[in-house]
Amino acid sequence: MTDELNRLIEHWVRPEIRALSAYHVQDASGLVKLDAMENPYTWPDELRDEWAQLIRDTDVNRYPDPAASKLSERLAQTMGVPAGMRLILGNGSDEIIQMIAMSLSGPGRCVLSVDPGFVMYRMIATFCGMHYVGVPLKSEDFSLDVAAIRQAMAEHLPAVVFLAYPNNPTGNLYDEQAMIEIIEAAPGLVVVDEAYAPFTDASFMARLGQYDNLVVMRTVSKMGLAGLRLGLLAGPAEWLDEFDKVRLPYNVNVLTQVSAEFALRHKDVFDEQTASIRAERERLLAAFAQLPGVTVFPSAANFILLRTPPGKADAWFAGLKQRGVLIKNLNGAHPLLADCLRPTVGTPEENTRMLAAFAEIAAL
Ligand SMILES: *Cc1c(COP(=O)(O)O)cnc(C)c1O
Repeated sequence: MTDELNRLIEHWVRPEIRALSAYHVQDASGLVKLDAMENPYTWPDELRDEWAQLIRDTDVNRYPDPAASKLSERLAQTMGVPAGMRLILGNGSDEIIQMIAMSLSGPGRCVLSVDPGFVMYRMIATFCGMHYVGVPLKSEDFSLDVAAIRQAMAEHLPAVVFLAYPNNPTGNLYDEQAMIEIIEAAPGLVVVDEAYAPFTDASFMARLGQYDNLVVMRTVSKMGLAGLRLGLLAGPAEWLDEFDKVRLPYNVNVLTQVSAEFALRHKDVFDEQTASIRAERERLLAAFAQLPGVTVFPSAANFILLRTPPGKADAWFAGLKQRGVLIKNLNGAHPLLADCLRPTVGTPEENTRMLAAFAEIAAL
């Protein structure tokens, strides 16, 4: 029986899927949760009450608006999508990456991005039967190696290039001119992934329409609505009309549509939270720089990449956890991330607690 079951799995499940391990989420119960780039703030009571009323009056017996028109309009306005550009929405921006890959996949086709970068580009390429080409970032400062990317694009002719701006897990913004050079040299689509837009003033949104192959992806996850699962893609209708064909009908549920539209009507609340996260980021950057032997990398996001003294990352990660603080350990994830840790910026109280734990561990 078991042998037969194994035979069936081995015969039918694609080898590249069998070789994967499922996306792992750390257990955070009882810990200060600073591992997943979440906004640490919840909603004020009066906003919660108003929201609860809205949900109370929402009917779930009908399918949602398939085009999510009201929410799309609100998103276009709050995210500064240029006039004439189209929007499509996804169940998180992860689903949009999948829609793009499904539309562009085919024998011999590949996805290109940079490493270390956002792991979903590689994973979704694999799901969709595409090769993934990862071009290493420069080791000193995680900047784009434009010459290497140009060479890889010429060699592999990627259907799509993904660039996270700012990048995850390194936190930096790339040089704008380098980005433009890549957009101009790319043989196919370029997706600028602006998941961390709330934490920087830099953006390619206003450039939409200037290049035939440029689209911009955003999400509401990092601004404080990670639980709703909502991402968006903005760009020329010619591309987005095609991607819309592979979108599953009703992919954005009615509770998400109503809740996100409501939240964006109160964007001032989120702007205040984001401003506090940005201020705390500066405090953390300065404090981490004081730790002996630690290298801190610049961040335009809501997390910070730092390098511990050689060989210390695993012990520091475990020591933090022992002291009740959960962050992300990136040691071993990529050669360029040796000895690297990635804490998310939390509330002032959480950050103070994290810094105290770091100070204790660094003094051991
Ligand atoms: C978090 C993240 C996303 C995923 O966002 P969701 O909308 O929550 O799926 C996309 N891109 C980057 C670079 C991210 O860090």
